[in-house]
Amino acid sequence: MLTTAHALITRMGHKLGLTDAELKQLLAANAEHRFEIKLQDGQTFPAYRVQHNNRRGPYKGGIRFHPDVSLDEVRALATLMSLKTAAVGLPLGGGKGGVAVNPRSLTPEQLEELSRQYASHLHGALGPDQDVPAPDVGTNATVIDWMVSEYERLTGDTTKASFTGKSLEGGGSLGREAATGRGGVIALREYLATTGRTGQLLTVAVQGFGNVGSFFATIASAEHPEWRLVAASDSAATLTKPGGLNVGRLAAHKQSGGSFKEAATPDATAASPEAVIATDADVLVLAALGDTITEDNMRDVKAKYIVELANGPVSDPAAEFLISRGITILPDIVANAGGVIVSYLEWKQNKSGEHWPESKVNHELEAYMVPAVKAMSDAARVEHLPLKDAAFMVALQRLTSE
Ligand code: NAD
Repeated sequence: MLTTAHALITRMGHKLGLTDAELKQLLAANAEHRFEIKLQDGQTFPAYRVQHNNRRGPYKGGIRFHPDVSLDEVRALATLMSLKTAAVGLPLGGGKGGVAVNPRSLTPEQLEELSRQYASHLHGALGPDQDVPAPDVGTNATVIDWMVSEYERLTGDTTKASFTGKSLEGGGSLGREAATGRGGVIALREYLATTGRTGQLLTVAVQGFGNVGSFFATIASAEHPEWRLVAASDSAATLTKPGGLNVGRLAAHKQSGGSFKEAATPDATAASPEAVIATDADVLVLAALGDTITEDNMRDVKAKYIVELANGPVSDPAAEFLISRGITILPDIVANAGGVIVSYLEWKQNKSGEHWPESKVNHELEAYMVPAVKAMSDAARVEHLPLKDAAFMVALQRLTSE
């Protein structure tokens, strides 16, 4: 991931005429924190926080609790955060953190101890104007609330602006839960507008019906009756119905802990989870995991548009192949930026002591997503570039000249 990100930054940097010194600075992180967390029972876990670039504002990026976390992964994700915040015009930089731990192997008490130790070790390097972490894979609002409490205890700062992704009671923002899915709907709508396809009937398939995928489908069905969800998958099955699936029923089924295997009906047929990739639909929304389209299955894709709501769901060789076939890929750094945009809005509310209604949060989300899609599409058209290259180019321009 790190090699791929560096290769694209270098390629786009050269296109922009950046000097080797400028490129070197963009590729290196400003600071890397490596430490060990030792729980009272003696278990130890490697922990990291990489602060990549703060030229546009405080470092921003999640904290991941996962057994595969490594310094290289955290470096890559921190670098991509600097590009994502710049690509969507936020006054923030990029950072990322992680602990190599399986959070499911810990008791709630151990998880709290781990979270508090993480915040305690780093408290001098974090802060509303310095570095503002958020949840990521394996962490959630509860983990962040523990970290905020530890940070407050050690620093006396009670603004809550030191972390985002907090619970609503702990200073979180309305609209955060739906933000990435909603941002994906806006990205697709705005991109289609640039191609003159506004208002036309579109069939849509969604891979992954968790937080992001189900909000994407629910908001799309409410705001775009002309988009028809013909397939949706989770890790158990793909459900297909050419006449259109009942989005509300599927979302409620998942919310109640059900899987798509049991949700099949005589007119909504179930197939393997992988079958969603080969759906005969105009749009394929990828909202499950990284690398779900690779050289192994790229030839199965029938969609004309792919929306990357997961991080890196299309491998680089697969993306090259699909683009050569005329398929458009709306890249993750813009398409799934709704989450970090609403994180920024949460930070802004905390800093000013305000609590916005959800309608205002959604309005502000639009105000960042719409120009971000336009800047990327314009750069792609003018420079004859795929959208991902164009988004990187816009981001690098902002990181070096604004
Ligand atoms: P989630 O855990 O709520 O949902 C993931 C869904 O994917 C689940 O329904 C799961 O059953 C499904 N899934 C897993 N393996 C699958 C497979 N092989 N085929 C089909 N479905 C499969 O996670 P989420 O918060 O919705 O995040 C989804 C992706 O988006 C992740 O890659 C995440 O890193 C990325 N992302 C999330 C956010 C956010 O705000 N939550 C922001 C940016 C990126």
